[in-house]
Amino acid sequence: MLSRRHLLTGATLLAASAAIPRAWAQGAPGPFKLDPLPYAPSKNEPHIDTQTMELHHGKHHAAYVNNLNAALSQNGELARMPLHEMLGRIGDLPESARSAIRNNGGGHANHTMFWQVMGGAGGEPSGELKSAIDRDLGGFQKFQTDFNTAGEKQFGSGWVFVTVNRDGKLALVAKPNQDTPLMDGQRVLMGNDVWEHAYYLKYQNRRPEYLKAWWNVLDWNKIGERYAAAKAGTLTI
Ligand code: MN
Repeated sequence: MLSRRHLLTGATLLAASAAIPRAWAQGAPGPFKLDPLPYAPSKNEPHIDTQTMELHHGKHHAAYVNNLNAALSQNGELARMPLHEMLGRIGDLPESARSAIRNNGGGHANHTMFWQVMGGAGGEPSGELKSAIDRDLGGFQKFQTDFNTAGEKQFGSGWVFVTVNRDGKLALVAKPNQDTPLMDGQRVLMGNDVWEHAYYLKYQNRRPEYLKAWWNVLDWNKIGERYAAAKAGTLTI
């Protein structure tokens, strides 16, 4: 927020206070904020350690939110746009803010989804979601294998996602950095973070071990809710 404070001086302050905070005060989606973790940071032990959860949420995710807000403070009109729409129109955004929004808006959306789908006890999906996995991803075992392989093969930092469309059709996709299928106009059912900050304290260079352990902390009820929301057209990030 330092750069934003620095910016908000003199005439700039008057202009900004006229244009931006009014939109924000009316319940518009910006500036963005870091929601608390939806469970205790120890909830995913022993598969994901408490310290990793604390740093990942309280430092890494927080930085994406702060940097996104800083980028938006210079582009007041964008602050009115919901995050998934902003990311869906990333190519149309002003060039001066585009990469900051790509990296930090993507980071905010990805991590918001990530905390939601974890905090559970693993196991397997059921009902409609199970049927969709059987139909589109070759069954739960093949899905896990293919997902983990995509995570191992993602060179450097990135994510592996399952996308879902309005018909409930699923697909696997890997993305570099903080890119997200939202940037292609798609919706994300679930995804795993393969940045080293997600696993290095506990697993060091052993990314495959982390990928395998991650399934033990998934909350299939939450993921099922996201699936239903996607089909109802109400899933955003
Ligand atoms: Mn991360």
